[in-house]
Amino acid sequence: MLPKRRVFATRRPLLSVVVPCYNETDVLAHTHERLSRVLDALPEFDTEQIYVDDGSADGTWDLINSLVRRSGSTRAIRLSRNFGHQGACLAGLRESRGDAVVVIDADLQDPPEVITEMAARWLEGWSVVSARRRSRAGETVFKRATAAAFYRVLSAVSDRPPELDTGDFRLMDRELVDLLSASPEQDLYLRGAVSWFGLPETSVTFDRAARFAGTTKYTLRKMLALSRNGLLANSSLPLRLPAYLGALTLIGGATAATLRRDVRLLASSGAFGVQALALGVVGEYLGAVLRQVRGRPHYVVGERLEAIGASVPEPVHLEERVAL
Ligand code: UDP
Ligand code: MG
Repeated sequence: MLPKRRVFATRRPLLSVVVPCYNETDVLAHTHERLSRVLDALPEFDTEQIYVDDGSADGTWDLINSLVRRSGSTRAIRLSRNFGHQGACLAGLRESRGDAVVVIDADLQDPPEVITEMAARWLEGWSVVSARRRSRAGETVFKRATAAAFYRVLSAVSDRPPELDTGDFRLMDRELVDLLSASPEQDLYLRGAVSWFGLPETSVTFDRAARFAGTTKYTLRKMLALSRNGLLANSSLPLRLPAYLGALTLIGGATAATLRRDVRLLASSGAFGVQALALGVVGEYLGAVLRQVRGRPHYVVGERLEAIGASVPEPVHLEERVAL
């Protein structure tokens, strides 16, 4: 879908930057300073920074407090416990007020300077600007290999694959932020959900830096949970697998049994095939229930004329329309 250039009437657009933080005392002061430098150099925008403390156990919240006290355009929320990166991002998105919202990691692995280019793309009219990693410095071979493999598998089996080699470092238009905020999905996988809505999407490339300080807060367990959510939320293939297997066994078994004139083989492959097929049928119903529970909208309107800051007429309510 092609972008539509944004028009600004009476005010500058607001750019929000959401920073999820979990035990990040070693980096936050630097992050805030570098981020502020980048945002101050964006003359076309008003900006705000939103720090989300994801139940940190160190002095992160105190540090965030001092940042908020020092800067008028910085806000923060603290979650009651550690909900994980995806939950923290969603909390920040819901808190944000920007016309465009960027989510960025706290550890400076995502260079804040990339935001300048993202903001330019948004002004051109793109609703989603993902940051695509050209390289990943300072990460273990294990992390790099598993990440590369996972993204490729996900892309192969996804109903609507997210762009390869992108994480959650991304700019999103308010429309998309509202759609995500309204989503009742429990097992969030933001980067997959984003592509699903089908809004105009582009990317900018960057070299992923090494962590500025501290150690990774994404334990292997959290990483596995994220991968599982990514697969389950974006692919119906695992649910359909028994049906495929059943059909394959039935056809293969029947052919082999006929060729060999073997009644026992026919019976056993038939029994397994029917069971797997039945499981596949249940899987299809489960898939339907899952989609219903997920409650994503039936459609997203692809284009809308926007004059940010202009006085927009009040929408006509349905009852009024009926009365007319
Ligand atoms: N993070 C979070 N909650 C968590 C784990 C991580 O908010 O439970 C934040 C963390 O503070 C950082 C971002 O998510 O800003 C990415 O985490 P990290 O850099 O540790 O992951 P990695 O880059 O190693 O995958
Ligand atoms: Mg990191």
